[in-house]
Amino acid sequence: MNIHEYQAKELLAKHGVAVPSGHAAMSVEEAVAAAKKLPGPLYVVKAQIHAGGRGKGKFKELDANAKGGVRLAESVDAVEEAAKEMLGNTLVTVQTGDEGKQVNRLYVTDGVDIAQEYYLALLVDRASGQVAMVASTEGGMDIEDVAHETPERITTITVDPAQGFMPHHGRAVAFALKLSGDLNKQCQKLAKKLYDAFIEMDCEMLEINPLVETKPDGDGNAELLVLDTKMSFDGNALYRHPDIEKMRDETEEDPAEVEASEYDLAYIKLDGNIGCMVNGAGLAMATMDIIKLNGAFPANFLDVGGGATKEKVTAAFKIILKDDAVEGILVNIFGGIMKCDIIADGIVAAAKEVNLSVPLVVRLEGTNVEKGKEILENSGLPIVSADDLGDAAKKIVAEVKEAA
Ligand code: GDP
Ligand code: MG
Repeated sequence: MNIHEYQAKELLAKHGVAVPSGHAAMSVEEAVAAAKKLPGPLYVVKAQIHAGGRGKGKFKELDANAKGGVRLAESVDAVEEAAKEMLGNTLVTVQTGDEGKQVNRLYVTDGVDIAQEYYLALLVDRASGQVAMVASTEGGMDIEDVAHETPERITTITVDPAQGFMPHHGRAVAFALKLSGDLNKQCQKLAKKLYDAFIEMDCEMLEINPLVETKPDGDGNAELLVLDTKMSFDGNALYRHPDIEKMRDETEEDPAEVEASEYDLAYIKLDGNIGCMVNGAGLAMATMDIIKLNGAFPANFLDVGGGATKEKVTAAFKIILKDDAVEGILVNIFGGIMKCDIIADGIVAAAKEVNLSVPLVVRLEGTNVEKGKEILENSGLPIVSADDLGDAAKKIVAEVKEAA
């Protein structure tokens, strides 16, 4: 699950991490009120969408020269102006896709005088089973570009969660960012706080881009501040964090994926034309692969789980069919815990209920498979039965071609 920048900063502040002060706003009036609570004279008005690259983004409704989704404002009036331009409009960034995202929330923050920008991220490194801390002196840039063009400027420090964060990890992060003196000490402390926050909140990713060093104040003191952050959480651990779960903003998510989660279906929309309904994540992956092998593309990943009921199968059909790109459906179910005849009953009932209008190929295997196939055959519906995975993929690809 992803959250907004302002929510992530709230959580980090609770863990003792320094962030610029700011307030979220849902309307122009709230944005003005938020600015008035800040010291000024420099403010930043930031579009809150679940995507990065906002600063360089463009609003669909504004002309091409208009500023993007992160704007410096030098007065409360300028904050008001920026809020008027952004709210309700659609921001397109490198991460939103061409359709962009509507801006419904803003974050009005204290403007920071920046001396230097850095990059620091924590993520679960599945290959090593450890937490990876990725540090770079190239802050404020697209980290994928940095990795591509100047990989030597990225340092990865892994922390074994069984051992925990050690002082040498902090030193390594500060060294990678080439910090010295007091800033080096601040960075070591920050790295520890971020690691603790990451573990405590069951994060999947915590990206800070940029982490900034402020210009020295009158006494010559500079500070490390989290200027922008993206945070995502392990959905399977959310039950341990009801406060974080409440931060979910469903308007930022794909409506079909939200609906699927209500039925406890693991659904991810993809770009192809063949809808897939499978039980088990591994089988679902294999099904998508074999569709591709036969020259077509899956429209989705969908795992109905081990105990698929008729209701679940019906909901799954409806969700698949909401995608206009779907030209055929492949059902691939292994009846292990579930029996094939019960699944077949579910498929037939669901196909009738949704008035299925695209070709449907069903591959059943497992307990009571003969009974299951019989039910499909006697249903009076144009369901094509398949014997194995390869056969099923070939058949659905052929059916879709024929129907086109
Ligand atoms: P993103 O474009 O979605 O990654 O949004 P960011 O919050 O990272 O902002 C983009 C860029 O705007 C940063 O890299 C900074 O260069 C600039 N920026 C953001 N906040 C401030 C600020 O308080 N002061 C100054 N001077 N620049 C800022
Ligand atoms: Mg950023």
